[in-house]
Amino acid sequence: MRIAFIGLGNMGGPMASNLARAGYELALFDLDANKTETVQAAGAEAGNSKISITETAAAAAAGADIAFTSLPNPKIIEAVALADGGLLSALHEGAVWIDLSTNNLECERRIRAAAKSRGVEFLDAPVSGGIEGAAAGTLMIMVGGDASVFERCKPVLNKIGNRVMHLGEHGAGYVAKIAQVVLCYLNSVALSEALMLGVKGGVSAETMLGIIQGSTGASYVANRYGPAILDGSYDPGFALGLAHKDMALTLELASSVGATLPMCEQVEAIYKMAVEQFGFDQNHLMAVKILEEQNGTFLRSA
Ligand code: NAD
Repeated sequence: MRIAFIGLGNMGGPMASNLARAGYELALFDLDANKTETVQAAGAEAGNSKISITETAAAAAAGADIAFTSLPNPKIIEAVALADGGLLSALHEGAVWIDLSTNNLECERRIRAAAKSRGVEFLDAPVSGGIEGAAAGTLMIMVGGDASVFERCKPVLNKIGNRVMHLGEHGAGYVAKIAQVVLCYLNSVALSEALMLGVKGGVSAETMLGIIQGSTGASYVANRYGPAILDGSYDPGFALGLAHKDMALTLELASSVGATLPMCEQVEAIYKMAVEQFGFDQNHLMAVKILEEQNGTFLRSA
C-alpha cells in the first residue's frame, strides 16, 4: 500500500506521522517544505524508511493507492487537485482520493466529477478532534461516498482516527462536519459573553469559568478553550482565518440546503471582523478579543 499525503499542517502533519508510525510507504508534499520534517522524523523513530518528500502534488500522487489531502480551503483543494500537474493528473485508475479537509458541497461536486472522469474514487472524510486528536490518532472521521470504497480504506483511516464513520452518499461527511463544527464557534462567542457578564458584575473570570464548567453551561469549549482565553494565548492550535472559513462554509451550506440560521449569521460577522482586524494567521479565539475590546475589559485570570 502506497500513500500520498498532501498538506502537512497542524492536522495533516500529525495524521501523516501516525501513518508513518504504522509503517506505510508514504510520499509527502506541502508547499512549506519544513512541514514534512516532523513526519519524516516520526517515521524514522519507528524504523520506517519508506518515506519520501516530493516537490509537487503530482509527484506524491504518482503510484499511490490512496492520496490524502488536508488543505486550508475549497479554492486550494480544487487548485491542488485540478491544476495541470496536480493530484488528479497523476493518480492511477482505481486509486482513492480522500479529502480530510473541511470543505463545501459545490467544491465536492466539481472535484468528485473530475476524479470520476479519471477513474479515481473519491471520499469526503473531514475530521474532528483538533490537533490533540490528530496527534493521538483519536479523531472522529466523517465519511461520505461509496460504501465499498470506504470499507477498503477503513483500515488506513483507523490509523488516524478511532471513530471512523460512513455517513452515506458523497458530501455527507462535509455536511456533518460543518453542522458539528459550527457549535464550536457559536459556543466560543457564547462562552465569552457569559464570562464578560460575570466579570462586569464583579465575579472573577477564573471563578466564573469554574462555575460554567460545573453547571448547565459545561462544554468542550468551556473546558478546552476557556483556559486559553483566560491565559491570553487564544489557543494556537487553529487559525482564526480557518475558523472564519468554517463559519462562511456554514452560511454557504445553509443557503444551499435552504436553512435559515440567524445566530450563525451574527457569529460569522464576528469572525470576519476579527480576521480583518487581527489577521488570518492569528489564533482562532482572537474572535473573543472583539468582545473584550468592545467592553474595554480583558477576560484574564487574576
Ligand atoms: P494548516 O494551515 O495548519 O495546514 C494546511 C497546510 O496546507 C499547510 O502546511 C500549508 O503549507 C499547506 N498548503 C497550503 N496550500 C498548499 C498547496 N497549494 N499545496 C500543498 N500544500 C499546501 O491547517 P490545519 O489546521 O492543518 O487544517 C487543515 C484542514 O483541516 C482545514 O480544512 C481545516 O479546516 C481542517 N480542520 C482543522 C482542525 C484544527 O483543529 N486545526 C480541526 C478539524 C479540521
